[in-house]
Amino acid sequence: MNRLQNKVAVVTGGNSGIGFGIAEAFKNEGAVGTITGRNETTLSRSVDSLGKQFIGIAGNVTNLNDLENTFKQTVEKFGKIDALVVNAGGVVDGIAMGSIDEVTEESYDQYMELNLKSAYFTVQKALPYLNDGASVVLIGSSAAHRAAPGMAIYAAAKAAVISLAKGLSLDLLPRKIRVNALSPGSIDTPAFGKMVPEEHLEQVKKTWSDITPIGRQGLPSEIGSTAVFLASDESSFIVGTEILADGGLTNIS
Ligand code: NDP
Repeated sequence: MNRLQNKVAVVTGGNSGIGFGIAEAFKNEGAVGTITGRNETTLSRSVDSLGKQFIGIAGNVTNLNDLENTFKQTVEKFGKIDALVVNAGGVVDGIAMGSIDEVTEESYDQYMELNLKSAYFTVQKALPYLNDGASVVLIGSSAAHRAAPGMAIYAAAKAAVISLAKGLSLDLLPRKIRVNALSPGSIDTPAFGKMVPEEHLEQVKKTWSDITPIGRQGLPSEIGSTAVFLASDESSFIVGTEILADGGLTNIS
């Protein structure tokens, strides 16, 4: 199908996991654009896997100059931006999310900066470059709705991201820019390897599969297909809301 034909998209964190799944789904629907990430090796590998329909721009989403540069370069290359997926986030390198006795002021700030502050400023820095009528998708998390031990700061940041989607949607409607949140449940991505020691990885993934009513973790492509819907005109009346793609995870107590 060609639901994103002639559309230009930017997917932050598009060199891995969910972001790559989204970029791939966008590419399959005819979009071109930019993926970002800090790791230039995975970035260039992902650009190749996307058949060079997307370019890679290296940068840190916590750095406002890098964000500005991403959008400026994208418009220089493609002329416009029709869809923005604010996906980069999750685990801060080398720092466990941590239970309350483990969290330091520094780790608290780093989780908030990566998962909340960067989402806000990604939208702010994109704004001058976004086409009127563009779609913005903020990646939230089922963690905002269903508590899990040791994830309170991350969950709070993602709950705030969902709130941002609601609030920003009103601010941006004068330009007919739609903002929504897309909250994945447990998705099989490299992020788990950053949180869990290798020897426990399969057990942790099995536990998430077992507690998810559908009986498995989700695939990045399943978040990709939902993001395509939100980025396309098919969702033209959907504004300032959250879509959960979680296999039923938040449907249980
Ligand atoms: P991955 O770890 O696979 O990917 C994270 C992506 O974000 C990478 O592309 C990484 O690239 C990029 N990134 C991380 N930090 C920065 C930074 N400071 N600057 C720029 N880019 C950065 O994680 P997932 O695919 O699992 O997660 C993607 C999003 O989905 C996150 O927002 C996460 O919170 C959310 N999510 C994930 C769930 C899951 O079960 N996997 C569930 C619910 C939500 P690089 O390292 O090269 O910078």
